[in-house]
Amino acid sequence: MPYVDDCVFCKILQKQIPSVSVYEDELILAFLDIAPFNFGHALIVPKDHHHSCTTLGDDYLARMMQAAPRIAAAIMRATEAEGFNLFLNNGSVAGQVVPHVHLHILPRFANDGVLMTASTRKYDSTQAMTDLAEKIKQRITHV
Ligand code: AMP
Ligand code: ZN
Repeated sequence: MPYVDDCVFCKILQKQIPSVSVYEDELILAFLDIAPFNFGHALIVPKDHHHSCTTLGDDYLARMMQAAPRIAAAIMRATEAEGFNLFLNNGSVAGQVVPHVHLHILPRFANDGVLMTASTRKYDSTQAMTDLAEKIKQRITHV
């Protein structure tokens, strides 16, 4: 999908608004998040406007996942972080605010106070769990 007018990340990709980039190639741009949870928090953005990663092309998806650990390792070296989270908020119910696919790289430090926890749930039975897995399997398309 071509770039769209009302998308902040499309504007960044077209250099219409500034960003502080850390990596760029023909398929993706990575830049520092303007409101980081920790310093060094970065976003990898495909050079193609898609709201959801489910419609993004394989070449973009592959490059994002290929680059993520390398960029994360560089962020760790630069910030002396001890670990990192990779996460992608897909859909507003999942916390997506910018409607252009982006993969977060969040460097983590001991006791940094970043909360990414939720209480766990329990399946009613093993059968309920396997039934759901079967339902999912039947709906997986073109991997
Ligand atoms: P999400 O909630 O997954 O949609 O995350 C969107 C992220 O984009 C947030 O962490 C914002 O701080 C970040 N963000 C929004 N606008 C900009 C911008 N102009 N430059 C850098 N990061 C941005
Ligand atoms: Zn966009």
